[in-house]
Amino acid sequence: MSKKKIVIEPDPILRKKSVPLDTVDDNLRKLMDDMLDTMYAAPGIGLAAVQVGILKRLVVIDISKENEKKKPIFLVNPKIVLRSKKTSIYEEGCLSLPGHFAEIERPKECEVNYIDYHGKERKLKAKGLLSTCIQHEVDHLDGVLFVDYLSKLKRDMIIKKLVRQKKEIGKIVI
Ligand code: ZN
Repeated sequence: MSKKKIVIEPDPILRKKSVPLDTVDDNLRKLMDDMLDTMYAAPGIGLAAVQVGILKRLVVIDISKENEKKKPIFLVNPKIVLRSKKTSIYEEGCLSLPGHFAEIERPKECEVNYIDYHGKERKLKAKGLLSTCIQHEVDHLDGVLFVDYLSKLKRDMIIKKLVRQKKEIGKIVI
């Protein structure tokens, strides 16, 4: 497994729509393994392929706690087919918006159809943190970021800070 570079906002690729995958083969499994490695190293609990610069509908998630056994979930072509009316609020962050968090309200439960690591069709009923995480990642596949749920003022403020952060990183590298 090898780590990939995570794309940081603002970057136009994060606003693009990812395309569905046709097959799950060894090449794709290698990408899934690399994405998982990248996510664990970050560390994060979810990562969409677009965040490593690949516009494919692919997501990896692991919400297990640090001292628990790892439970990675690989979702190829995830499609949310049901969203509960009840909502919940989590303070969300994103590996593509490092250092920024905001309370986001989303449906509390959701049901997602997807293809797994072995190419098998599956359905998952999720609630709580997993439900929020799935919705956050599937948003990435449609070019949506969690800051899009905030007011324009708040969103612009965060993006401005990210631009400044990127410049700071540049100064250190040079
Ligand atoms: Zn994210």
